Amino acid sequence: MLFDFKNITADEGFLREAIEQADIATLSMVLVQLSGDTEILQTIKPYVHGPWNYSVDMPEDLQSDLRERLIALLKDYAETGRALPPPPPVDQIQSMMSACVGEEVPADFVPMMMEELAFHGGDTREISWQSNDARDAASEFKVLIIGAGMSGVLAAIKLKRMGIPFVVIEKNDAVGGTWYENRYPGCGVDTPNHLYSYSFEPDHIWTQFFSKQKELQAYFERTVDRHGLRDNIRFNTEVVSAIYQDVDGSWEVVSRDRSTGEEVKYNVRAVISAVGQLNRPQMPDIKGLSSFKGKVLHTGAWDDKYPLAGKRVAMIGTGASAIQAAPTIAPQVSELHIFQRTPHWIIANRNYHASVTSGKKWVLEHLPFYARWYRFQLFWAFSDAIHNALVVDPNWPHQERSLNARNERFRINLTQYYKDKLGENSELLKKVIPDYPPYGKRMLIDNHWFDMLQRDNVELITEGIDRIEADAIFTKDGARHEVDVIIMATGFAAHKMLWPMDIRGNDGVALRDLWGDDDPRAYLGITVPKFPNFFLLYGPNTHLGHGGSIIFHSECQMRYIAKCLRWLIETGHKEMEVLEAVHDDYNDRCDDAHSKMVWTTGATSNWYRNTKGRVVSNSPWRLVDYWAMTFEPDFNEYKVR
Ligand code: NAP
Repeated sequence: MLFDFKNITADEGFLREAIEQADIATLSMVLVQLSGDTEILQTIKPYVHGPWNYSVDMPEDLQSDLRERLIALLKDYAETGRALPPPPPVDQIQSMMSACVGEEVPADFVPMMMEELAFHGGDTREISWQSNDARDAASEFKVLIIGAGMSGVLAAIKLKRMGIPFVVIEKNDAVGGTWYENRYPGCGVDTPNHLYSYSFEPDHIWTQFFSKQKELQAYFERTVDRHGLRDNIRFNTEVVSAIYQDVDGSWEVVSRDRSTGEEVKYNVRAVISAVGQLNRPQMPDIKGLSSFKGKVLHTGAWDDKYPLAGKRVAMIGTGASAIQAAPTIAPQVSELHIFQRTPHWIIANRNYHASVTSGKKWVLEHLPFYARWYRFQLFWAFSDAIHNALVVDPNWPHQERSLNARNERFRINLTQYYKDKLGENSELLKKVIPDYPPYGKRMLIDNHWFDMLQRDNVELITEGIDRIEADAIFTKDGARHEVDVIIMATGFAAHKMLWPMDIRGNDGVALRDLWGDDDPRAYLGITVPKFPNFFLLYGPNTHLGHGGSIIFHSECQMRYIAKCLRWLIETGHKEMEVLEAVHDDYNDRCDDAHSKMVWTTGATSNWYRNTKGRVVSNSPWRLVDYWAMTFEPDFNEYKVR
């Protein structure tokens, strides 16, 4: 592959500065790949300790030697006009992976990670046609996508590339889904953006490692424009119903314009639901709430015109939304009363508030292979490397505080962090240390939460709420907390998936009846018996609780769906419907895996479980397992006609 080394070495001063700002373990992989010198892997080995601490320990003279070697090599490439070397052999890749995260990366991860590394460039999950006839047939196979959030945009990109005609129905007047709707102060992502982005669209717009809502929204808007999808999207329109037509194996979908009420009927061969799980704000059922005369806001339905400055504010809830919103508004409001029902485990991340420096941005964009190795490191650190810490060790004696030795180490380290922030014996410390194992609820990233709790105008209230009256919240101890505004940071109705659409499959079966209020189930989170050619993105049991990027998960699901569509088109079959036995067996395995995981055994409430205690949101699998399960559909698992 030809690469413009002349351009990147043209200004040596700038190159030097940029390379100085790059991460040394990542840079070392670029050096190994460009030089072929695998000795470097041994040289750096003693200094790269585990995924959270890639390079901190490496002596300065070694770092500078590696940087100098890379600069000299880049200049040599520029002078000789050499092409980029071919990707290293698989066993070398595995050694490189292990060296750059400081621990052994098992062989079963390599194929998945090779896909993520995408050394040949382009979209490694692209689906191709076996014949031109099939491609022609694809142009007759209409699909409807519900939702233009992260996963709906992904589906649209893939269908467009396959030449499948589609329309996207979006209830909002913009794309982005949760990143459009959630606009509370401080809203942002807590998966690093160089991982939380499409694998084929590694955009370098990120100004921070963990971007805020506006930048995320801009990423999805830009992606839609780059792929020319806007004309396919019907904004401000919602799907009212989707009814399967047994006679010809099609779906009749009715949409309604939210302004005019005008209804439009679509007849399509397949439906892809991409509606998300976290977009229906959950209002708590607190006595007297309707009698409150002040302003009530919900983090998931923010009114950005409402001024909070100088107000006495209550915030109910201390989850992922609260930890971003409360520290952001605390300096503006006169009083902030935070009502905590259950404390969360909170971890520090040294990049959480950091900006991407110009040098780092430059190497990510221009230095060959750097961005790919960086993404791999994030992928490893933020996902399966943590999974076993969430699984019960039946011989571990302290199940109430931790699940296994590794989970206990998390507890000890996190507790020490709380102590460092709040003081060994402070009253606050007693209130905020959870009594359940780490990861029992969603792990939060410290957004100056502990600093905020120590502000003079902030009070953390752990007494339960009794009732709300016209101008105050009363706690069970009889205390009255007078406020002007109540912010509900109380989460989403996550279990009411696909609500309130009326979706009916074979024999008129309604999805709502099948799932009830809060028990959604699907095979691989993607297909449901009785609902032929109906596919789900981010469906039941696909949320990630141990880490990883939901975008990666959606890409796995979309590859599976795209292969199903290709098969229908290439074979001329009208429909495919997952076998009930396959679906039930999968869900049994899912439940069984969950029964050994922290969300079930960790003795605390969380939004992952339904009213019966079944985990319906989260996936129990490691990413590598789910990747393998969704890699290739097995059509024997489907009833086809
Ligand atoms: P959440 O995690 O479900 O937190 C809801 C909070 O409200 C909890 O503290 C809960 O207490 C409390 N609560 C609920 N009902 C209550 C009541 N009646 N009385 C008192 N307290 C009550 O909701 P969220 O913070 O909106 O986050 C939901 C999910 O969205 C996250 O887990 C994450 O997946 C996603 N999210 C991600 C980001 C990000 O990427 N940075 C940001 C925001 C949200 P209990 O714990 O006692 O139930």
